[in-house]
Amino acid sequence: MSNDRDTTTGEEKPITPRDRNISFERETNFAVPYSRENINRCRCPQCPVQADSKCVKDKLDNLKKEMDILPADEVPEPDDVPGAYCSTGRAVCKDLNPGRQCICNTCDVWKEYLLENGKPSQYFCQNGPAT
Ligand code: SF4
Ligand code: SF4
Repeated sequence: MSNDRDTTTGEEKPITPRDRNISFERETNFAVPYSRENINRCRCPQCPVQADSKCVKDKLDNLKKEMDILPADEVPEPDDVPGAYCSTGRAVCKDLNPGRQCICNTCDVWKEYLLENGKPSQYFCQNGPAT
């Protein structure tokens, strides 16, 4: 059934749909793009903070397989990537050791996006994404 006839009065404004389902597009608004290039350049997989994390090891193993079959223009789900935290925010894995040294300042992504000036500027896996 159609309810179009009510629009003739001009008094009832159409309800604007909420955009809460467009989470997809929000991800493109990150200060650091969540791109395949940046995932590949990320140094987090070599970071001491993650070195003893079983959760991270498992994710890295799975990610290698996934990247092999994923089309070149697609990116994995952020939760499957134990890195690129400057883009996507805090780590899903909870067994990291933030008492060790963050190595983001050795990363080309960090240098390219001038993340030393960001807030936070390091330990994105703990502090959330660079803004
Ligand atoms: S700056 Fe840090 S979190 Fe961001 S890509 Fe580089 S190593 Fe990963
Ligand atoms: S954000 Fe920094 S501390 Fe966290 S895993 Fe990446 S390099 Fe290590």
